[in-house]
Amino acid sequence: MPDKPGLTTHLNLNVRGLPISATLGINERSNQLIREGKRIYKLGLGQSPFPVPEVVVNGLRINAFRRTTCRFSDCRIARRRRCAITRTQGLNFAAEDVMIGPGSKELMFILQLVYYGELVIPTPSWVSYAPQAHIIGRQIKWLDTDAKSHWKVTPENLAKLCASDPDRPRLIILNYPSNPHGYTYSSAELEAIAAVARKYRMLVLADEIYGEVHFLGEHTSIAQYYPEGTIVSSGLSKWCGAGGWRLGTFAFPAQLQWLKNAMATAASETYTSTSAPIQYAAVKAFQGGAEIEEYLFQSRRVLSHLAHTLVARLNQAGFDIAPTHGGFYLFLDFAAFGPALGAAGINNSIDLCERLLTDTGVALLPGVAFGRPSSELTVRIAFVDFDGARALEAAGRLSPTEPPAR
Ligand code: GLU
Repeated sequence: MPDKPGLTTHLNLNVRGLPISATLGINERSNQLIREGKRIYKLGLGQSPFPVPEVVVNGLRINAFRRTTCRFSDCRIARRRRCAITRTQGLNFAAEDVMIGPGSKELMFILQLVYYGELVIPTPSWVSYAPQAHIIGRQIKWLDTDAKSHWKVTPENLAKLCASDPDRPRLIILNYPSNPHGYTYSSAELEAIAAVARKYRMLVLADEIYGEVHFLGEHTSIAQYYPEGTIVSSGLSKWCGAGGWRLGTFAFPAQLQWLKNAMATAASETYTSTSAPIQYAAVKAFQGGAEIEEYLFQSRRVLSHLAHTLVARLNQAGFDIAPTHGGFYLFLDFAAFGPALGAAGINNSIDLCERLLTDTGVALLPGVAFGRPSSELTVRIAFVDFDGARALEAAGRLSPTEPPAR
């Protein structure tokens, strides 16, 4: 009797051949090399080095152990206190305007799923926006930026893109302080971008997950200037040391309730809700208080000091990079070293990262993972591979009046 044919692969074309997310991929690879005995500097994945604040951990402890039952309806607990979630942006959202998800990454995916329009993303942008669109089958328009303007979207280039097809429904993702480059927008820049978005009725997803780690604590949201068309995205991962807790938030203006309702339907058919104990703990985090303020103050000081020291050293080494404003990253262009690198057989950002990893043990991500042209020699450094608990302790011993390094 002939053998029955084995199971064959039947994959959705949109995911066929897609690799694992670049950030998680470089982390796994680094860990594997470490297990093989290599010395690796893990500057690939960007996760908070700081421990979750004690008051938030206690919120989790109490709610995990005291509540012996946990029904689905309990999972809406953070909703009742949602107003607290947006405290830092200085924006007033009503409790029912905020949606909670298992990480803002999942909320972004659901947003792309339910919204029917073109996705506009600046290049460079975080590694997962484009693959999410690809998985869902949405069209992507990359919006080019350059090192001279600190990789920022300008109102001129945004207007040019919109004017090419003015009636097309569009969603732009603006992430600031930015992953991968660490720069943010001034109020004037946000206002000018908001004017273009309003003119072309473009939706803005303001990914403000690094807002709380603006080095000077001076984050401003584009929602101040374009409230009716902006969704503000945030979460616990970056400022609260709780990446693995998976809690993200989207805040919607009244005009975008239709979008929130569609997302809530998709959520109800997929993840249902975020783990209830995590939501209770998140309420503690978002309510803030003296302990959280101190934690944020010291976190910003440490990150700011590191970023500024790195920028100074890199400039001494021949780069030309301006001080950054917040977050965990620097985005470097090795163009000035192009001829020497070319002579060594390194002609693009992937070659560059491969050689750096094999020759020096330094794990970085190539610019191409952030949507930059493949021929470019750009890389992202995530400078958060350090003992955050020790760093916070050391910063706490310094005079509290000493300002963070500019
Ligand atoms: N956002 C982090 C990064 O860009 C890691 C988390 C993730 O990509 O899911 O490195």
